[in-house]
Amino acid sequence: MTKQLLVFCFLSLVPAAYGESPRNVVLLIGDGMGPQAVGLLLEYARYAPDSEYRGAPTAFETAFASGKVSLLLPKTAGGLLGDSAALATELASGVEARPATLGVDKNGYPAENVTERAHKKGKSVGLVSDTRITHATPAGFAVHVRHRDLEQEVAAKLLVAAPEVMLSGGLDNFISTAGAAGIPAYLKARGKRKDGRDLLAEAKAAGYELAFDRQSLAAAGGPRLLGLFSNSMMPDGITALASASDPARRIPLLEELTLKALDTLSRDKDGFFLMVEAGQIDTAAHHNDAGRLLHEMLVFDRTLGTILRWLEGRDDTLLLVTADHETGGFSFNYSRAGIDPQPVSMMGEVFNGEPYRQEYNFAAPENLSRLRAQKSSFIDLLKGFDALPQAERTAARLAELVSANGPAAITEAEAAEALAMEPNPYRIKGHKHLDRDEMPKIGYFREFYSGAEEAACGALARQVSPKLNISWASGAHTATPFFLIALGHESSALFSGGVLGSAEAGGKILSLF
Ligand code: MG
Ligand code: ZN
Repeated sequence: MTKQLLVFCFLSLVPAAYGESPRNVVLLIGDGMGPQAVGLLLEYARYAPDSEYRGAPTAFETAFASGKVSLLLPKTAGGLLGDSAALATELASGVEARPATLGVDKNGYPAENVTERAHKKGKSVGLVSDTRITHATPAGFAVHVRHRDLEQEVAAKLLVAAPEVMLSGGLDNFISTAGAAGIPAYLKARGKRKDGRDLLAEAKAAGYELAFDRQSLAAAGGPRLLGLFSNSMMPDGITALASASDPARRIPLLEELTLKALDTLSRDKDGFFLMVEAGQIDTAAHHNDAGRLLHEMLVFDRTLGTILRWLEGRDDTLLLVTADHETGGFSFNYSRAGIDPQPVSMMGEVFNGEPYRQEYNFAAPENLSRLRAQKSSFIDLLKGFDALPQAERTAARLAELVSANGPAAITEAEAAEALAMEPNPYRIKGHKHLDRDEMPKIGYFREFYSGAEEAACGALARQVSPKLNISWASGAHTATPFFLIALGHESSALFSGGVLGSAEAGGKILSLF
């Protein structure tokens, strides 16, 4: 055999051959971001009459055009789909996991995660999210905890797992009910911990710089950084984007957190793993709130654009862009309501002088602009309504609030429908969401609105959505397949053209370290 032939035989035995492992891996997760949410972003960018993209491509299109693409299925040990805790665990550890569990296999043993693997290789690790650092997605990449709701335990275990960079909300889980020193006045200095521990002081003693606002974030220059910018969740996409150009803004945008993490982690000569989560796409979709969903997708796309700009001119970093599951089943639809009866006179000879008539309403591009102009999320509108004195909580008042701040006007009768209640035939005593006799009235498919918050927002969406040609399949997670895009390094070949379960995809991510 010639030497050349030997080399060929050897290579052919190595599946998905590529050379060196990437020095850095960046994983951007849109929580709940199915192809439907991506479609909403792309349609807004291209077709909204006042699109802020002005003909430029979205970052998603840029990544999609230059990356390798596979499809992911969100299978867990719980069933055909799962939740963000199980699916973060699967992506981080390569094992099937049970819903609500963090970093454990289906038998309850700790599963080695990508944070531990990266640390073993001498690499730094960063976790960034616009939810809470103790929330399911970031937590599933670093800790081993039996339930996602044990967020105070998650906070303590994050300090043990010790990712070099942690930037998000969730301050309440780090400080005690008695309060802590050194918290700026725009945040509450009293937290939720009942064990008296001050995890901020512990983090400082372990060498972390602390940041609580844009200014202290910009000033931080060391290798370990813990930034907490909200007591609980970070602002939603509508609020975040409305404040984006305010020079006095204190809370950083997800893209700013991401850039700081990249700058900090890239000082490690051994490389790094960074997980960034656009975490409120899921919340918007649970609430069937299409305007908010668009804003959360804009937050995602700005963050992806920031990462792509950072990648320019580098070939040592693999970027993976994906979701953990789809939520809500958003769609634009053609409609029998709002059909334009006007005949269109046709110049072409095929019509021979006959006018053309559109037989259905095929969704005006202006609907996209109305979603972008939404001033307040459905949940904030309803919370504002619930906070009114009893006598003011009328259907007429809700109609006013929605018409002024939502994406479409609704009538008093429609607002009354949105406020109606129905019996809950699925009551379970002691269940955190289901121990109620009544739920906001969803009617058909009520089974897929698992909590009162989803149902209340879903009931409002039932009234608003048809005016914008929008439907929602569900208030829950779905098993819809979604994209995984890989680019920036030759190891992207590992993720080319396949159909992968989440745990399989996680196994491939682990194999990069
Ligand atoms: Mg999440
Ligand atoms: Zn969810």
